[in-house]
Amino acid sequence: MKIATTIAQVRKQRKQWSREGLSVGLVPTMGYLHEGHASLVKASVAACDRTVVSVFINPIQFGPTEDLAAYPRDFDRDCALLEALGADLVFHPEVSELYAEDFCTYVDMEGLTRTLCGKSRPTHFRGVCTVVTKLFHIADPDKAFFGQKDAQQLAVIRRMVRDLSFPVEIIGCPIVREESGLAKSSRNSYLSEKERQAALVLSQTVRLGQQLTAQGEHRSDVLLRAMEDQLCTQPLARIDYVQAVDGVTMEPVEQVKGGDLVAMAVYIGKTRLIDNFMVGDEVI
Ligand code: AMP
Repeated sequence: MKIATTIAQVRKQRKQWSREGLSVGLVPTMGYLHEGHASLVKASVAACDRTVVSVFINPIQFGPTEDLAAYPRDFDRDCALLEALGADLVFHPEVSELYAEDFCTYVDMEGLTRTLCGKSRPTHFRGVCTVVTKLFHIADPDKAFFGQKDAQQLAVIRRMVRDLSFPVEIIGCPIVREESGLAKSSRNSYLSEKERQAALVLSQTVRLGQQLTAQGEHRSDVLLRAMEDQLCTQPLARIDYVQAVDGVTMEPVEQVKGGDLVAMAVYIGKTRLIDNFMVGDEVI
């Protein structure tokens, strides 16, 4: 497995693979990898001849009061995991490699980015779309792999690729959870033992929502009220949002149907966690 820190190194490798007629999968990450990331890498290794994983904490997707400085990192451990998974190239640039000091060009999206996480993180998806665009230009992947854990991000990337005609296929991968139900996240490392227990209320609430919809409850207000009530039983939890939206447009729906997204963001102490389910998916 090679490690590249510059755009030029990645481009050179990509050119060589193109000459050899090899297909390339890209897995964008911010590092501090866990089994959720590993599932994306495995999917890429299975589907593509070569797999590039980017490990880059993208500053422009963090708001001014968010956890950029505290975001966990362990690049050596990430590399050991990626090597074991069969990744071929890790792209680990410095911030200055991707953003010149006078950088002022962004990829922005209307509509889909205004609801859910976009409401509480107004510049987040502009940062995500911009960095993913750059990674696509640099690595020129045939396929790129994203987790359903960040369901709005996945919908936004799919739309961006369609709207801007990127020649890349987007593959969504299911949420990987701990035995307890807690969705794997690099941010789980912020949680104390007590908070980790409290955080189980998210997946318990996902399960409740899934059970209610499986039983035929389609009214969003009834569904969301029941989910909010469940979250409120946990004193350490503070709801940012719980919403039911169309799975493509991310616009709120009054009645949920198959393929719609029911998503939440909840603070456990100071840590903001997200979880979700698509209506019709298997109950967790
Ligand atoms: P991050 O490093 O948090 O930016 O995540 C990089 C990619 O891994 C994104 O596409 C995430 O959706 C995906 N991912 C993160 N956690 C999980 C998980 N628990 N299950 C599946 N995919 C995940």
